[in-house]
Amino acid sequence: MGFSKEEISDKANYCLGCKVKMCRKGCPLENDITQFIAYIKEEKYEEAYHTLCETTVLSPICGRICPHKSQCEGSCVRGIKGESVSIGNLEAYVGDLAIENGYQIPKFSEEKKNKKVAVIGGGPAGLTAAANLARHGYDVTIYEKYDKLGGILRHGIPEFRLGKDILDKQIEKILELGIKVKSGVALGKDYSLEDLEKKYDAILLAFGANISSKMGILGEDLQGVYGGNELLEKNTHPDYTNKKVAVIGGGNVAMDTSRTIKRLGAKEVTVIYRRAEKQMPAEKKEIEDAKEEGINFLFQTNLVKVMGKEKVEKIECIKTELVKKEGETREVPVDVVGSNFELPMDYVVMAVGSKVEEKIVNLLELELTSRGNIKIDENYMTSKKKIFAAGDLSGTKATVAWASRSGREASNAIMQYLEN
Ligand SMILES: Cc1cc2nc3c(=O)[nH]c(=O)nc-3n(C[C@H](O)[C@H](O)[C@H](O)COP(=O)(O)OP(=O)(O)OC[C@H]3O[C@@H](n4cnc5c(N)ncnc54)[C@H](O)[C@@H]3O)c2cc1C
Repeated sequence: MGFSKEEISDKANYCLGCKVKMCRKGCPLENDITQFIAYIKEEKYEEAYHTLCETTVLSPICGRICPHKSQCEGSCVRGIKGESVSIGNLEAYVGDLAIENGYQIPKFSEEKKNKKVAVIGGGPAGLTAAANLARHGYDVTIYEKYDKLGGILRHGIPEFRLGKDILDKQIEKILELGIKVKSGVALGKDYSLEDLEKKYDAILLAFGANISSKMGILGEDLQGVYGGNELLEKNTHPDYTNKKVAVIGGGNVAMDTSRTIKRLGAKEVTVIYRRAEKQMPAEKKEIEDAKEEGINFLFQTNLVKVMGKEKVEKIECIKTELVKKEGETREVPVDVVGSNFELPMDYVVMAVGSKVEEKIVNLLELELTSRGNIKIDENYMTSKKKIFAAGDLSGTKATVAWASRSGREASNAIMQYLEN
């Protein structure tokens, strides 16, 4: 991450090493943050890495792209009166050193278990689950539809936020645990769940939920309306030269698509968000970076309809006011009657949420939740015996650390199932 040893030492020494570890509580993976930082203070970097490895195999990635301000750093005691400890920078530093110096991810058991597990999807949930199972001696195979593993870390988060060299090297380190990979094959196309059930003792579904949700408004089917997830995943874009683009939403996908589109040469990119700036789910830093790069923002504004003959020509928006409503934890945006206005536009990109691919879940014949996610019980098992699910497709909070935690817990549940 470009910090010198001295800078890292200063950042580590700023940590108070609290006895009650609030930062650990704030981390979805429950990393022992004060302990790994204590090792950095003593320049015991391999020990720091091994402390992190007790709970995560994604250090160089989480250190870079976790929403730290709402997770570990947001709970740091130092942050009450001033700046919190730079936990993300410290984690990435240790993760990078592990790559440079070849520190291994330790195994939990050297004993080989005679059980085979298939993991479908090589994103944060699948990678974490596969690593945990391999570290406990299980025979694991990841099935991935693309040629390379990584999930949204590869086919979503742009290079300017997460370098693919780091991702490649970390995946290599995870695979060194002895995980097999079958890439370029998709569940529901190249093989079925029944095929896998015949070959494996347990199956973990971790194929994500990366289909852009729609708003259900007029004009959404016009040419020139895209889903942000699909644009980033497939990396196929229209020519944005001299074009005006509206990106609807306030999360990571909205930030990454708007910044990518601006970098691809769009004349004007406007993010339209129905709530206030302080309510945006995207990290503050991402919003600031987007502003610096020239992205416009329209807060408390809702998209009403997209207009045009065949393709997008303009959009109609309405202003919103934030109203306190009983039973709601935060203020709710309500349209201000008569505040409608139009804007000329060439493209509209939807970044208002994402969901599981319907075609696949229908084929699997598994029970779903009311939100269309794969339903799991408290042991991460789906409605079919020996089929488990984890990550975004099971409706976890959609961040890398939460998906990874869900992969870890699901793999622990699989081990319990296999040993009983
Ligand atoms: C643009 C964008 C930016 C984001 N930015 C951040 C961020 O900065 N910080 C953060 O913490 N979170 C971020 N997130 C959220 C985070 O990336 C996800 O929550 C996380 O990747 C989910 O992990 P997963 O393993 O469940 O699914 P995924 O990462 O989606 O991985 C699923 C894998 O399954 C594979 N797959 C799909 N279908 C099949 C099939 N039929 N057969 C075989 N394989 C299949 C996919 O190719 C993929 O490799 C972002 C998400 C997006 C879309």
